Amino acid sequence: MAAGSFARRLLAWWDVHGRRDLPWQQERTPYRVWVAEIMLQQTQVGTVVPYFERFVARFPDVKTLARADLDDVLHLWSGFGYYARARNLHRAAGIVLREHGGTFPDTQAELQALPGVGRSTAAAIVAQAHGRRAPILDGNVKRVLARRHRVVGPVSSSATLRELWGLAESHAPPDRAADYTQAVMDLGATVCRRRRPRCGDCPVRAGCQAFATGDPERYPESAPRRPRRLERRRFFVLVDPEGACLVERRPPAGLWGGLWSPPDRDARETVDGFLDQSGVDAGLVDEVRAADAFRHAFTHYDLDVEPVYVRLKSRPAAVREDATRWIDPDDHRLGLSAVAARLVAATGRAAR
Ligand code: SF4
Repeated sequence: MAAGSFARRLLAWWDVHGRRDLPWQQERTPYRVWVAEIMLQQTQVGTVVPYFERFVARFPDVKTLARADLDDVLHLWSGFGYYARARNLHRAAGIVLREHGGTFPDTQAELQALPGVGRSTAAAIVAQAHGRRAPILDGNVKRVLARRHRVVGPVSSSATLRELWGLAESHAPPDRAADYTQAVMDLGATVCRRRRPRCGDCPVRAGCQAFATGDPERYPESAPRRPRRLERRRFFVLVDPEGACLVERRPPAGLWGGLWSPPDRDARETVDGFLDQSGVDAGLVDEVRAADAFRHAFTHYDLDVEPVYVRLKSRPAAVREDATRWIDPDDHRLGLSAVAARLVAATGRAAR
């Protein structure tokens, strides 16, 4: 298949089968496209749509987002995962306001200078919001091109990536930049799926080298797997007599950075040891109850969460007010990780 015919066939397919009802396709401002692209970086379209709609309803433009409290942003992101994306969106909005007068930059170089915006995301914004030719290479496109050209080597290797970028460049057509970008993403998401690709419905099957091998799922090739590690942490959920529970803000970087959570410690930490470190008088304890542990899966490891609910006779004075909050489990506006939200929501059952 000659260069050019890939794009032609893809666009002809997209004109019939493509997705045109996604919320960020309706009002294609650079801001909305940027928010969508950041959300789509690690998450599938079906999950993104409701988060996207809530996000742009609350923060309709870059100025509103820049002036928002980070807690409000993280609150809307609760449960969506990969929270660095939310922190980067907030930080980037501040930069757009301060350094670009509140107008979203429109060159790939300026976009790539924003936190959280890599080469492919910047290209997707240029192509979709400004209609200019800019090849993308997100996870879906890597898979399509690796199969179409039977690229050898894992996509995490820099040599393979260079080859894939070269292919992405060679296929991007001179016109219909926004449609082509959406088309190649749609093909990866709906036809050239990671598992069980629908080669029978594929518009570029005629030239597909992986299809010709009879085993397209072999591509892209996987990097050797590292053994998955398992960690255990004990989470201490302090509950006051009114049912409010204590959460603390996590450090800005690292796991659940900037989010709020019941304090967690090494799995060997005892209740007495924890109370002592936190300056809480052990005489305030009404009841201690260890709940069943549960496992939370991250990309590269599993975390065994061991909850300990500590019901108090009164709220202690010693807990630091600057880094902690007592929250109503059913009514708060803080960003909680999925694990923290589960622990807090369970206070009604486990500790009251
Ligand atoms: S023919 Fe199959 S493997 Fe090849 S690009 Fe199409 S869906 Fe993917």
